[in-house]
Amino acid sequence: MPEYIESFLKKHPSHPLFTSEILNAKKLILDLSPQNLILSQLLKKNNLSHNFLNTVNHYILTALQHAQTPYSIGRYLEKRVIYEGTREFHLGLDIGAPVGTPIYCPWDGVVHSFQDNNRPGDYGPTLILVHEWGSVKFYTLYGHLSRKDLSTWSLHKTYRAGDLLGHMGSTDENGGWLAHLHIQIIKQLHDPQFQPLSGDYPGICAEQDLAFYQANTLDPAQYLAV
Ligand SMILES: [Zn+2]
Repeated sequence: MPEYIESFLKKHPSHPLFTSEILNAKKLILDLSPQNLILSQLLKKNNLSHNFLNTVNHYILTALQHAQTPYSIGRYLEKRVIYEGTREFHLGLDIGAPVGTPIYCPWDGVVHSFQDNNRPGDYGPTLILVHEWGSVKFYTLYGHLSRKDLSTWSLHKTYRAGDLLGHMGSTDENGGWLAHLHIQIIKQLHDPQFQPLSGDYPGICAEQDLAFYQANTLDPAQYLAV
């Protein structure tokens, strides 16, 4: 009988994604949901000028200054007010930290695919690893990395747990966001129509697709040291 990914990962703790300094630092848990009335009002006010990314970044920067930490957490499956269009549920975990923050490999893996998803609000440079032990197979996606990391990746390149994967990209290279890592644990790399995906996987989804994507992703906070 194939082992479930969840039970496998409970027995195989991850290598931390970040240095111990970051792991032990205070992190602000962000509320980017419609219940955040201040953020909702700001976005409504700035809607016509189409600068929602600037509005979100400025809001988070101000919140970090108040909390006196450069580190933040954005939650898995949070319903968010910050996206344009109907996709609003967040399918990964965001860890905000300064530009250039190194990111380390959580489990032994191989490069499945990578690309620069270079549209405003998208991932920017994105890496997908495949992890495979016997009957257990899953994927991890790293979004919003640095453009200089792209030249260090190659198809089928092997990474050991703890190896350097890349760095957090700056706003002008990571899709327009304040520097952060979007990490996602994915069971099968295809969309609801079973089309295989490469170098990209939805990080947000609409309510009608939530059941599919929730079943196909894991809560990174439960399995990763962040
Ligand atoms: Zn994210």
